[in-house]
Amino acid sequence: MTQPAFQQQLKTAYENERDQVAAQCGKGVDFESLNTATGNFYRRLDDTITGVSAHIEQSVQCQQGCTYCCHFKVDVSANEVFAIVEHVQSSFTQDQLEKLAQKATSNKSKLTMLSQAKRIETNIACPLLEDNACSIYAMRPSMCRKIHSTNVDACQHAYDNPEDKNIKNAEHPILSAITMTMLTAAREGFSARGLDTTVYDLNEVLIDALSDSQYKKRWLKGKKAFV
Ligand code: SF4
Repeated sequence: MTQPAFQQQLKTAYENERDQVAAQCGKGVDFESLNTATGNFYRRLDDTITGVSAHIEQSVQCQQGCTYCCHFKVDVSANEVFAIVEHVQSSFTQDQLEKLAQKATSNKSKLTMLSQAKRIETNIACPLLEDNACSIYAMRPSMCRKIHSTNVDACQHAYDNPEDKNIKNAEHPILSAITMTMLTAAREGFSARGLDTTVYDLNEVLIDALSDSQYKKRWLKGKKAFV
């Protein structure tokens, strides 16, 4: 496919995704509809990743038990944070919830000691990582679905050398472009319903969303969810 044709395909995919998400959000005030829109977006993203991966020449090397990227910064939007909270509150035991809250609190306090630059250079295990697996796999954020690698050595290098600014991006360029387009379009769909789509650091906001429902209420009112 020529470059202009690929760009046109990305533009069409962007508009379709944005419009589907916006339509499924309804009026943007009912959490159930918004959570359904998030879940449906995740399914379309997964289907696209599976479909595109089958046609690319370099194989994706990600596999169960490989968790290097679960120690890097995870970008999320508010709808994803509240989808996680809904999921854990309805499926985790009290013990699991307490353990998660402890880890999320500890991670947040580590972050308060770091500048933005230092944060990027510091590995912090995601509080949702449990026994080398994602404890919310079905509801993991879109960035965790999108991130992939065609070279696991590059992931290990990034993990071992988080301060290295010259790490080569090991994502497949076509898969990366398509999935990033979908992520951006989904945020635009929520934004079209007047909802905050700021990109947050999961480690910074998870404990707030877990421990106080006012953040979700703020978001549903169209305000910035986390300050
Ligand atoms: S949410 Fe799951 S997949 Fe994403 S960083 Fe955390 S443990 Fe890893």
